[in-house]
Amino acid sequence: MARKPMMAGNWKMNNAIGEAVVLTQEISNNWWKDWEDKVDVVICPPFVDLKPVKTVLEFDKTKIFVGAQNVYWEEAGAFTGEVSVPMIRECGCDYCIVGHSERRGLFGETNEDVNKKVRALLGGRLKPIVCVGESLAVRDEGTTNEYVCAQVKAAFAGVDADDAAKCVVAYEPIWAIGTGRTATPEQAEEVCAAVRAQLAVLFGEETAQAMRILYGGSMNPGNVDALVAEPDIDGGLIGGASLKCDSFIQLVKAV
Ligand code: PGA
Repeated sequence: MARKPMMAGNWKMNNAIGEAVVLTQEISNNWWKDWEDKVDVVICPPFVDLKPVKTVLEFDKTKIFVGAQNVYWEEAGAFTGEVSVPMIRECGCDYCIVGHSERRGLFGETNEDVNKKVRALLGGRLKPIVCVGESLAVRDEGTTNEYVCAQVKAAFAGVDADDAAKCVVAYEPIWAIGTGRTATPEQAEEVCAAVRAQLAVLFGEETAQAMRILYGGSMNPGNVDALVAEPDIDGGLIGGASLKCDSFIQLVKAV
């Protein structure tokens, strides 16, 4: 089954509003209309940039999607510092990254939290980009596939196949994020294929074949071609290389 590739830029905690608007304008200026049918492009800036970024894209009528980097599962109330699904939807988001390894590692996000966020997003008609990935210690133990598949299973607990089909999974080995050390195409494919097999167990073969699985971790214009040539890698979740228009557009062109 042909899956539409996706390139998603995770800006992390970079680009205040002024810089965000300039970078979005640059990306938008480089956007070709005929890419719309070939690739879904998503920009995931910090919360404060969501509305300004969306406004630039709407003004330019560029069909690039906006995603948040995190969300809280409650709709409203006494949750100081948190941002809800209706709030990011009102900013124009279609997607939201969930369970990034920095959230899991630095902010103590558990598999259970990830699952609550996935279900809250789906309930609010937004599409989760669910991040999974192993540490170097897990890889060295030789239990990567089991570990990553357990993360997938936990993230999708209580989700039905119709909703799962709207989700994207991003396989991001922690040892490859921001380190310049990319997984080889073979290493990345092996885990992405295991993730798809796990999705087939959960939701059936047809749904698993329709779902997009991205690779993330030091993906750049030099290594993208070999990675996306793998059968189970449908695009990328890009950190560092999404902060410059040139490299991000090169990555978009590669898929
Ligand atoms: P990187 O980050 O491309 O800078 O390695 C990827 C990510 O963390 O999503």
